[in-house]
Amino acid sequence: MTGNSMKYADSIQTDKDLILAEAGRCVACGLCLPHCPTYQLTQVEAESPRGRISLISALASGELEASDTLERLLHDCLLCRACENMCPSSVSFSMLMDKGRYLHKCLQKKRSFKEITANKLIDFLFRHPEWLRIAAQITSPINTLYRNKTVKTYESRQTERTALDYLPSIKPHRRWKDEYLVENSRKQVSLFLGCVSRGMDGDTLDDVIYVLNTIGYSVTIPAGQACCGALSLHAGREKESLKMMQKNILAFETTPSSPIVYTASGCGSSLGKYHDYLPDNGLSSRIDEVCQFIYAHWPEDMNVTSRKMKILLHTPCSLENKPANESAPHKMLGKFEKINLHLSSSAYHCCGASGTKMLVDFNTSNALRDPVLNQIKMEQPEIVVTSNLGCALHLAEGLRQAQLDIPVKHPVSLVADIFRENAQD
Ligand code: SF4
Ligand code: SF4
Repeated sequence: MTGNSMKYADSIQTDKDLILAEAGRCVACGLCLPHCPTYQLTQVEAESPRGRISLISALASGELEASDTLERLLHDCLLCRACENMCPSSVSFSMLMDKGRYLHKCLQKKRSFKEITANKLIDFLFRHPEWLRIAAQITSPINTLYRNKTVKTYESRQTERTALDYLPSIKPHRRWKDEYLVENSRKQVSLFLGCVSRGMDGDTLDDVIYVLNTIGYSVTIPAGQACCGALSLHAGREKESLKMMQKNILAFETTPSSPIVYTASGCGSSLGKYHDYLPDNGLSSRIDEVCQFIYAHWPEDMNVTSRKMKILLHTPCSLENKPANESAPHKMLGKFEKINLHLSSSAYHCCGASGTKMLVDFNTSNALRDPVLNQIKMEQPEIVVTSNLGCALHLAEGLRQAQLDIPVKHPVSLVADIFRENAQD
């Protein structure tokens, strides 16, 4: 079996067989260990890719039973995929981990009423993310109140963080139109909105539409889109994730000939893998990361200049470790000669956001973020840019707590700012 051939299986035994076959491709060479952020932090084998493969394999073979400890160990993985990039045997680690978490959930004997109810609510919202946008609008006054009280004491910063600490980043948004047309242009692109993005980061989606229109592309937003499915898949809820994938496949069948652009790099890792789970009607091959798309379709005669700016560019794991082109934001911003672009450099190669990790594992998510925050404090850029919403929220929260007034934006939002400044001149 090759790394990309682990399809959706409709029985636990088939899943176990898939896991054992894929795990069997690991030759335990350990070459991935120095690249794993959690192993770098802990130096514990069970927190390494090789250790995790052994645990998942033991669960599938019946040597290990499902337990709270095993669940915690499996969910300690950030799913950053750095190990995959380094593996000489091309072990499909992320697929293995998703399957492992799903298998563990299936084998878990008891689940609390609270967990079942919470999961049902989360899955409903991910399948109908328009409700997330509406919720963000309704709670907007509370967010504003909280924004003014968000700086905590030094002591409390060391011990806790809740979802409320991310509220100040929410930007409520009205409903998007179905189309944003450019007159006399036949160039067209479809936009994937995402779930958390449309609830918390509507400004970035507006900026993406504005920039795509400015470079001559009409933007279509197919109705009926769901969450990309990544959060549910990584949480071990494969069946729910498949329902979201199916909704997106149906939604984008309405624009069969246009590329599908996504904004949050985390969504791209999931959208690009649909064909590993379902017949996706070509969706996986149509997706394109937005910076890559803009750079590749930049009009030859377009001459836009920026003012001098010092920018720190953070590269999310989801951009660095497949399937997107990690250098795309760098190349796109390289169009502006006066931008002084610094790359963020952390020994851990992960800012610690990692889906819901930033909410549930305070210590690890902070330990991974600290080197990035320290670099920002030292270099004092005008703006920090990053292509993944989770990373942006996590870094912005850290900067707020450090009382540093440095905005965190998507690279395309920076391009939109420059375009608007030029339009005013
Ligand atoms: S996905 Fe990232 S955190 Fe998980 S084992 Fe691989 S390198 Fe480590
Ligand atoms: S690099 Fe690949 S083969 Fe080697 S230990 Fe890691 S997962 Fe296994």
